[in-house]
Amino acid sequence: MTADSHLHEIEARIARAAATARRSDTATLVAVSKTQPAEAIEPLLAAGHRVFGENRVAEAAAKWPALRERYDGVALHLIGQLQSNKAEEAVALFDAIHVVDRPSLVAALGKAMARSGRRPDCFVQVNIGAEEQKGGCAIADLPALVDQARAAGLPVVGLMCLPPADVEPAPYFALLAKLAREVGVEGLSMGMSNDYETAVTIGATHVRIGSALFGARA
Ligand SMILES: *Cc1c(COP(=O)(O)O)cnc(C)c1O
Repeated sequence: MTADSHLHEIEARIARAAATARRSDTATLVAVSKTQPAEAIEPLLAAGHRVFGENRVAEAAAKWPALRERYDGVALHLIGQLQSNKAEEAVALFDAIHVVDRPSLVAALGKAMARSGRRPDCFVQVNIGAEEQKGGCAIADLPALVDQARAAGLPVVGLMCLPPADVEPAPYFALLAKLAREVGVEGLSMGMSNDYETAVTIGATHVRIGSALFGARA
């Protein structure tokens, strides 16, 4: 089975979840291609899919320039932790950055955008379950970080979260939606292979799906 065989089923499920929630819009499927070789990604490109997520700058830089030469209109989303010293490379390579989570990174991204003139869409990542080991800004720090990002010239389009594992995610998705309203952004990057339909019913604008498309990662 290649990833394109799952694509239409997942898109249909997203559309059905949006319709169930009486949404007039739908959610963008970000195909998470981290760890997948170009041969696994190509069937999706050939099927017309264009939005992909990677979690490492170096891996994306190794894989995507060659694929972009062969397929027009690819939008690459960075979904994994970003070190400030990689901000410049990330701004050059990605069309959206979902992991803006601290002042030092905001400053580095602001500088990189000013220098390059490129302005990838930015999502502020929130540590929605207040988990020690996870990235994302604390809920209490969110308004100030959004203000700082806007002042630094980052196009802040939404919020992103990874809810705690093994618990019902819906309350965390609802909380992220509430926080987004409070800081005045519309984008909601939430929902992965196991919970994307729930996320869509709660308003996700971007779902990040890896294993349901490609199969389990090695
Ligand atoms: C890997 C990853 C995903 C995709 O996870 P699946 O469970 O394979 O769909 C989504 N978001 C982030 C931040 C990830 O690192």
